[in-house]
Amino acid sequence: MPRTHARTIAEPARTIPVAAEYDVLVVGGGPAGLTAALAAAEDGLHVGLVESRSFVGGNMTIGLPVLGFLGQKGNRIIDGLPQKFIERLRRERDGASEHRPCPLHMGITLVEPEAVKTVALGMLTEAGVDVLFYTFFAGAIVEEGAITGIFTESKSGRAALLARVVIDCTGDADVAFRAGVPCEKGNAEGGMQPPTLMFCLAGVDTDRLRMAIAGAPPKARTYLTDFIPAEYFGQNQQFIVVGLREELARAKEERRLDIPNDRTIIITGLRKGEVWINMTRVRGTDGTDARSLTRGEIAGRGQIDDIVTYLVNYVPGFEHAHFARTAPFLGIRETRRIVGRYVMTEEDVLACRHFDDAIAVASYPIDIHRPADDGCTLIWCGDCYDIPYRALLPQKVANLLVAGRSISATHEAMGAIRVMATCMAMGEAAGRAARISVRGNRAPADIDVADLRRQQLAAGVYLRNADGSRAQPLG
Ligand SMILES: Cc1cc2nc3c(=O)[nH]c(=O)nc-3n(C[C@H](O)[C@H](O)[C@H](O)COP(=O)(O)OP(=O)(O)OC[C@H]3O[C@@H](n4cnc5c(N)ncnc54)[C@H](O)[C@@H]3O)c2cc1C
Repeated sequence: MPRTHARTIAEPARTIPVAAEYDVLVVGGGPAGLTAALAAAEDGLHVGLVESRSFVGGNMTIGLPVLGFLGQKGNRIIDGLPQKFIERLRRERDGASEHRPCPLHMGITLVEPEAVKTVALGMLTEAGVDVLFYTFFAGAIVEEGAITGIFTESKSGRAALLARVVIDCTGDADVAFRAGVPCEKGNAEGGMQPPTLMFCLAGVDTDRLRMAIAGAPPKARTYLTDFIPAEYFGQNQQFIVVGLREELARAKEERRLDIPNDRTIIITGLRKGEVWINMTRVRGTDGTDARSLTRGEIAGRGQIDDIVTYLVNYVPGFEHAHFARTAPFLGIRETRRIVGRYVMTEEDVLACRHFDDAIAVASYPIDIHRPADDGCTLIWCGDCYDIPYRALLPQKVANLLVAGRSISATHEAMGAIRVMATCMAMGEAAGRAARISVRGNRAPADIDVADLRRQQLAAGVYLRNADGSRAQPLG
């Protein structure tokens, strides 16, 4: 255990060099940050993107399928830049699947993590975005209630980056929090969805797996899945398995395996024989605390061997599987959310609510890996719901936008809007809002939202009319 110190020490004040000045600065290069930077740069503004890791893509590089492109009625409800990105992945690197219908997740779009890194970076550099890797956001520069830039820390030491508008796409609302925006964490008890260290197995016979689920007549079925009819697996070669609860419970009892999960979650990869496993689970981890994150990485890694033992011995198709790799970092489902000008709620999602200032449409159900036990809560609304622009606008600090999983939403609504297609759609809106703000010399909170919506439609973004039909760009 680390020795804890109550002592403090004063850091001497110092003068920091201004390393760059931007029109728009995006912090965090995950799904939201990627599209935010691309949209902000689309008519030649000087846009910077700061990323603490050595690649862009965020959670899109940890072996997860992109969820959220298809709505609960089966239609595609995300278009614009996210769709262009998926098309480029597919075209240039065979790096994405079709948007495949899935009874549980509405739609799944498999992506290849390495292709995501390469194609996303290519698009950013083509668009003239100044990408800065290995650079950690370290503090907000706030003057008279408005953010004017950030401090960064890196191998080069501390630096200041100035910008007219900053977009926080860190997933953790790092910038907003340090700038003094009110933030919340977790549910009413402060409990946050547990993180998962994803890992990849190779040598899996995925056809044997799916036919074991689909093969037997209904009454004789052994391998039961949650919400997804067995027949689905007979017809689909790329899929997510969620379930096999009995096999997992039996394995835990017979082999005394320590697996803090009651469901099996297997995601087929794009390459033959590869699957990604979403089953480690480290309750009580706080993704905004380095010590807690370290404990989470250690505990998550420690769970992998038992999960592999279970899969190889109890799940058809895994007989000759071998461990390939872990994801590059622990996947964090939930940390801070800003309190913005509007707080999205569970009712908004379940009532399929329309907003006059809608900047994106989403449809993913409320999906909460419960903080306090090994289970999951899933609630569908039957159709789509809007994401209002005001949920991207923080209270108290001007010239700051937030996009991605840390927008202004309750714990329950965040459980729905957090998926990656939705995060990309929010990023695109934030980037375009920042551009309008800079071009019009108005704070993001004061731009004409009708104009933002018009520009969104003109760029191919999916928005809805009051009757639920797709809104078309004005002639
Ligand atoms: C285990 C797990 C399973 C999930 N399953 C799915 C799924 O199947 N499909 C789906 O669509 N979604 C899934 N999600 C949800 C989804 O992955 C995230 O909600 C989504 O990626 C959030 O996007 P984002 O851009 O807001 O943040 P992130 O993807 O977290 O990206 C944030 C980026 O900011 C960078 N960053 C953070 N802090 C700093 C800093 N201080 N300085 C500089 N850079 C910084 C990070 O390095 C990262 O690149 C899952 C999440 C987890 C954890």
